[in-house]
Amino acid sequence: MKCAGDIDTREVEELYVNIDPIQAGGRLTPEAHKAVIAFADGYSVCDNCLKPFRLDYINKPPIAQFHRDVAEWLNMDQVRVVPGARRGFQAVASTMVKKGDPVLLTALSHYTEFVSLEQSGGDIHEIPKDANNRITAENAAIRLDEVTKKYGRAPALLFVEHVDYQYGNIHEVKEIAKVAHQYDVPVLMNGAYSVGIMPVDGKAFGVDFVVGSGHKSMAAPAPSGVLAANGEYAERVFRTTQVKGDVTGRTFGIKEVEMMGCTLMGAPVVGMMASFPAVKARVEQWDHEVANSNRVVDALLSIEGTTVESEYPRRHTLTRINTLGSYDKVAATHKKKGFFLSGSLKKKGVIGVIPGSTRVWKFNTYGLNDMQIEHVARSFVEVAEENGLSVS
Ligand SMILES: *Cc1c(COP(=O)(O)O)cnc(C)c1O
Repeated sequence: MKCAGDIDTREVEELYVNIDPIQAGGRLTPEAHKAVIAFADGYSVCDNCLKPFRLDYINKPPIAQFHRDVAEWLNMDQVRVVPGARRGFQAVASTMVKKGDPVLLTALSHYTEFVSLEQSGGDIHEIPKDANNRITAENAAIRLDEVTKKYGRAPALLFVEHVDYQYGNIHEVKEIAKVAHQYDVPVLMNGAYSVGIMPVDGKAFGVDFVVGSGHKSMAAPAPSGVLAANGEYAERVFRTTQVKGDVTGRTFGIKEVEMMGCTLMGAPVVGMMASFPAVKARVEQWDHEVANSNRVVDALLSIEGTTVESEYPRRHTLTRINTLGSYDKVAATHKKKGFFLSGSLKKKGVIGVIPGSTRVWKFNTYGLNDMQIEHVARSFVEVAEENGLSVS
């Protein structure tokens, strides 16, 4: 079936249990599906945009209230919606970093963090990971000290991931923020893999900025995300325009420079809003999600030769697994090579493992119900047994 022309309909979530590492937290709620259809037209949210003409002041649909609610939920002073976590990094980097300023991020930072700092001309330094693939306050302190000595001034900004995309490990954000603040360095917490799936309290972490991804973790359409900030940093990143036309003398009121006035229009913002009640409720079920994650990881670990590269027991639903000593041995002689794994799983109704990979790969169990978790765990074990691997 086609949507139009050569565009096929997409039936992934209808037909399969999807364990794709980046898609799990961004599946829409039924409420968001309805909202997306209703607000599909271009500038649909602008029907009732009244003075002072800014997205976050619109009351119908209740976009203004949504901004207040998300700020309260994250325990941060102010929030704006943005087109993806990356646009949040970009706004903060553009505000805080001048060309040649030293900046810190981590050995597990996402490319979008790097690129946002590159745009601002920051001089990039990574905080190394420790032997357990964690970013620690100890390593952050060493790098803060080194870089401050080298430049004769402290870094302009520090990015740290609450949960990284490579291992799904949880890092020492609170402790890192504490040392960074001893150097007066503002801290941005990247919550792309946490905001919307697990509880996040910005003030408890003591960070200055929190960034979340709507399409990664808030059951929202792409592109969407949130940028939250506190105190003076909120004033800076959400500063309003001062520009004036030299011929017309026009000025532009309270449009915010980094937000380009208005950010998320139509389906993305209304979709994120429609999912929000369910998202608020689901973060409270985090312990159950983690238990489910461990059930699947334990099933994989019961296959001889399999190891887990993420911290274990798991504290998150995104996991990096090493099957060089198990599935990859099968791939060496299988007529379908590495494709046997994704192919066999697909036959059992499980999708989301990169086709062909049998070495080191990632999956995410977020949002699956108990029956689906059971099915995924059993499928991994069955594929192992069908191919002569021993299971304990
Ligand atoms: C996915 C991801 C991003 C990018 O998020 P977008 O909302 O797509 O911009 C940034 N950081 C991490 C750690 C991610 O996993």
